[in-house]
Amino acid sequence: MKILVINTGSSSVKFNLYESAGEKLLAKGLIERINAPDTHLNYSNHRGQKVEKEIAANSSEAAISEACLALMDKKTGVISNLTEIEGIGHRVVHGGATISGAVKVSAAIKQVILDCFSLAPLHNPPNYEGIEACEHLFPNVPMVAVFDTAFHQTMPSAAYTYAIPKDIADKNQIRRYGFHGTSHYFVAVTAAQVLGRDLDTLKLITAHLGNGCSITAVNCGKVVDTSMGLTPLEGLVMGTRCGDIDPAVVIFLSRLGYSLDEVDRLLNKGSGLLGLAGIGSNDMRDILKAIANGSAPAKLALDVFVHRLVKYVGAYAAVLNGFDALIFTAGIGENVAQVRAMVCEQLTYLGIHLDPALNKANALTISREGSLPAVLVIPTNEELMIARETLRVLMS
Ligand code: ADP
Repeated sequence: MKILVINTGSSSVKFNLYESAGEKLLAKGLIERINAPDTHLNYSNHRGQKVEKEIAANSSEAAISEACLALMDKKTGVISNLTEIEGIGHRVVHGGATISGAVKVSAAIKQVILDCFSLAPLHNPPNYEGIEACEHLFPNVPMVAVFDTAFHQTMPSAAYTYAIPKDIADKNQIRRYGFHGTSHYFVAVTAAQVLGRDLDTLKLITAHLGNGCSITAVNCGKVVDTSMGLTPLEGLVMGTRCGDIDPAVVIFLSRLGYSLDEVDRLLNKGSGLLGLAGIGSNDMRDILKAIANGSAPAKLALDVFVHRLVKYVGAYAAVLNGFDALIFTAGIGENVAQVRAMVCEQLTYLGIHLDPALNKANALTISREGSLPAVLVIPTNEELMIARETLRVLMS
């Protein structure tokens, strides 16, 4: 059965086509700068063929049509007819407090996605548009929505409740939701396989360190706490987001004359590694280069990043009352041995001991034999998880 995974953003569409038997990735592509003069398609298939070209697409639907043409191309395509696609999985960022798993798309589910527009104004509207586009393009193909927030819905109320007046929180749906759920779930499931244990018996801490960063405590397959909150701004230091700060900073800045939009931009787009290192980049590779060249602000950026991470691992070790494995994933988690080493050096009190050679090699297990908890590096694969969940929902 062929499953198409669609991730529609505000100006981009990512698509992955899987053959579910053997979870084989047949082709993947990215269409960027939709509705701009230079809309661009980047495509590759399992035979190693690549296509890069300018295309015309002024809407999500036009972009997904282009994706279909790429998938059916005589030379570089992987299907001859769209009827070969038997299921479509959509990444949807926010499912609010009611969605706790992947679900078949229906009028009611579309309404839930619409109702969450105010909670994820940058993501849910394009995600919704992608679903409607596919309804037009694939009228008879069943679709599944896989939500970034769903895995986190098992959090107990003590973990998701903010200590603000309850009536105001309830009325305005203000609580911790958490994000990156599909990634945290994928690496938790994979970690259980690597450890040769049932996920239902494990206590895990999963650290997704990409441009956006979040960390999650998973007890027996259920999330018990996660660092992102009402929005993805809370928690760890990220590429351009500040993560945890005293909320009074917002009040302080606004009293100094900064508008709310300015503060929003400042904390979401101008902070984190970008704001601290002062080198005009939020890319960890550039931060590390700047440190090698003697930049003190870049060194401070890295130190603040690591310090926050160490604090969260300690907090989640307490929340879990001990844990079996710490898992690093996403761009920084998968590639930057120095960050993993700096974090783990501070966790020896928990019993963690890294093997420097394995760490340097980005091996699957980077802790020494006998290190309890174990430390793993697991490349995330949100698209594959969406394909799996789509298949599971359609088969149930
Ligand atoms: P996103 O959250 O956008 O999906 P990624 O998971 O791709 O991001 O992570 C992006 C970040 O990972 C980059 O900003 C960069 O700092 C870091 N990164 C990716 N690859 C490497 C690498 N090989 N070495 C160091 N850092 C890397």
